[in-house]
Amino acid sequence: MSYRQTLEFLLYQWLDAEALNQRTRFADHSRETFDAVLETCERIAREKYAPFNRTVDIEEPRFDGEQVILPQATYEAQKAYAASGMLSAAQDYEIGGMQLPYTVESAANSFFAMASISIGSGMLTSGNANLLMAHGTPLQKEVFARNEFAGRFSGTMCLSEPQAGSSLSDIATRAVPDGTDFEGDPLGPRYRLTGNKMWISAGEHELTGNIIHLVLAKIPGPDGKPVPGTRGISLFIVPKKLVDTQGHLTGERNDVALAGLNHKCGWRGTTNTLLNFGEGKYPVRGGAGAIGYLVGRPGDGLRCMFHMMNEARIGIGMAATMLGMAGYRASLDYAKNRPQGRPIGPAGKDSAKPQIRIIEHADVKRMLLAQKAWCEGSLALQLYCARLVDEQHTGSPQAADEARLLLEVLTPIAKSWPSEWCLEANSLAIQIHGGYGYTRDFPVEQYWRDNRLNMIHEGTHGIQALDLLGRKVLMENGAGLALLADRIGNTIDRARRHPELTEFADQLEQALQQVGAATRAAWSTGQPSEALANAVPYMQAFGHTVLAWIWLDVALAALGTASDTANQGRLLATRFFFRYELPKIDAWLNVVQARDMTCADFPEEAF
Ligand SMILES: Cc1cc2nc3c(=O)[nH]c(=O)nc-3n(C[C@H](O)[C@H](O)[C@H](O)COP(=O)(O)OP(=O)(O)OC[C@H]3O[C@@H](n4cnc5c(N)ncnc54)[C@H](O)[C@@H]3O)c2cc1C
Repeated sequence: MSYRQTLEFLLYQWLDAEALNQRTRFADHSRETFDAVLETCERIAREKYAPFNRTVDIEEPRFDGEQVILPQATYEAQKAYAASGMLSAAQDYEIGGMQLPYTVESAANSFFAMASISIGSGMLTSGNANLLMAHGTPLQKEVFARNEFAGRFSGTMCLSEPQAGSSLSDIATRAVPDGTDFEGDPLGPRYRLTGNKMWISAGEHELTGNIIHLVLAKIPGPDGKPVPGTRGISLFIVPKKLVDTQGHLTGERNDVALAGLNHKCGWRGTTNTLLNFGEGKYPVRGGAGAIGYLVGRPGDGLRCMFHMMNEARIGIGMAATMLGMAGYRASLDYAKNRPQGRPIGPAGKDSAKPQIRIIEHADVKRMLLAQKAWCEGSLALQLYCARLVDEQHTGSPQAADEARLLLEVLTPIAKSWPSEWCLEANSLAIQIHGGYGYTRDFPVEQYWRDNRLNMIHEGTHGIQALDLLGRKVLMENGAGLALLADRIGNTIDRARRHPELTEFADQLEQALQQVGAATRAAWSTGQPSEALANAVPYMQAFGHTVLAWIWLDVALAALGTASDTANQGRLLATRFFFRYELPKIDAWLNVVQARDMTCADFPEEAF
C-alpha cells in the first residue's frame, strides 16, 4: 500500500474531507480539486525535494563573509513550492489564495515533509504571513503578507535569545520609539530594536528578495526599564531590507546582521542563525538600531505570536510524523529484501535451507508494526487536528467553539507525541537496517537526526507537558478535557456495537478513567510543584490514550471493508496499539497519581 493510499483513506473515508465542500468558503472545491492539489504536491516533492534530501544534509549552509551559500537544489525547491500556490493555499481568492481547507493543505504538505523536511522553509513563511493576516494593519497585510504569499519575501519567527529559550519572559531585546513622529508611519508605529536572537531558522539567505522577521521585544516603561514578565512583550515586523508602502525595496539595508550560523545535528537544509539586531553594523536612516513596525498593541506580542506558534506546533507534529513515516517506508522496503537467518523449527535451524528475508522474523515485524502504529496513528491525529482548524474557521458558532477547545487540549499532544514516538520509529528503522542503518549509505540515520529537533523547538517536551497539565486540562473549568472525554466516549459507544472491537472499547474506557483520576490526584493538594513534578509521564499517558482513541476510530472506518489487506492492516495495527502500547500508561500514571517526588526531591549533590 502506498503512502498516498493511506493518506486518501484517512482524508476521505475516515474524515470525510469532501463534506467540507458544502461550506460556502469551500463551495468551489470538489474531490477532483483536492486530488489535483495532492497530485501536484506529490509530484513536486518527488522531483524537487526527495532527490536532494541528502545533498542539503551534506552541503550544509555556509557563510562566505558576504552571503549564505546554499545548494542550487534549495533554490529550485523554493521556486517550485512558491509556484504551486501552497504558500497561500488557505487564503482568500482576492489575495491570490485557493480557499483550500486546512485539512487538505496539511495533507498536501505532508508529501514535502516526507521527501525533505529541511529543504524548504515554507511553513515559516506562510505562518508568518498568516499571523499578519490575523493581527496586522491593512497596509502590513498588503506590503508584507502578500509578498510572502507570492514567494517574493520569506518569513521568520524571532523569539529565542541566547539567555531566554523556554522562558520568553526573560527576553532582553528592546524596542524604543524611532523619533517623535514614530506613530505616524503608514507601515505601523516605528521603533528601533536592539538585541540578539538565537536559533532563528531561515534567518539569513538569498532565496528571496527580502526576509521579514517577526520579532518579540520589550518596550521600556515610563521608568525606562523593560516591563517584567510576558506582559511587557510586543511584536514587531523587522524587514531585512526596508520597503515603501507599495512593498518595493527602498535600497536601504536594515540593521540586522548575521552573527553566525549554527551547525546542526540534522535539519541542515534550513539555515539556523544568531542574528544581531541594531548593533550598528548596517546603520540605517542616520543611525544604529533595527527599524521595526509594531504589530497589534504594545504588550500584546506573545498573544499575537501564539497565532504563529500554534500553527507551527501542528506543523511540527506533521513534520515529526512524516520523518517517522519516511523511516517506516524505507525500513519496510529493506526488510522485504534483506535475506538473513532461518526459521527455528522444533528441530532447530536447518542451515541447508535458503535464508529467509528479515521481514519474516517476528521481532522485525514487531519493529515494523510499532512504526506503522505510531506513524499512521500520528498522521490520523494531525489530520484530525487540521479538520478541527477548519471547523473552527467555518463551522457553526457552537462547533467552532468546540473545535477551539479541543485544539487547546490536543495541540501539546499533536506537537509532542510524534516528536517522541515517531523519533522512536526512526530508531527502529535504523535497527531494522542493522549495521547498514548506522551508516550514511542509507537514509534512515538522517531521518533520526532530522527528527531529533522536534522535541526541542516550538516549546520543548517538558514545556509542552507543563502546558498540558498545568493549563490546558484545567482551563475553563476543565471544559476542554471534558469535551475530549465526550468525543472519546462517543467512539467507545460506537465501537461497542462491533464484537471485534469491544475488547478495545473497554480498555479505552478504562484508560480514560485513569487519565481523569490522575489529573484530579495530581491537583488534589493544589500544589503546582507536586502536580507538575511528573508532567512528562502525564503527557505520555495522555498522548497514548488519545492515540488509542484515534486508532479505535480509524478501525471503525476500516471495519466495513476489512476484507482488503489495507484495512486488515489498520485493524491489526489497532490491536497492536491496544496490546503493546496502551498498557504502558499504567507506569506513567502511577507516579502522577501518587504525586511521586523521586525526581523533584533528588538532591543535586547525589547525582
Ligand atoms: C534547530 C533549531 C531551530 C530553532 N528555530 C527557532 C526559530 O526559528 N525561532 C525561535 O525563536 N526559536 C527557535 N529555536 C529555539 C527553540 O525554540 C529553543 O531551543 C527552545 O525553546 C528551548 O530553549 P533553549 O534552547 O534555550 O533551552 P532551555 O530553555 O534552556 O531548556 C533546556 C532544558 O531545560 C528544560 N526546561 C527549561 N525550563 C524549564 C521549566 N520551567 N520546567 C521544566 N523544564 C524546563 C527544557 O525542557 C530543556 O529540556 C530553534 C531551536 C533549534 C535547535
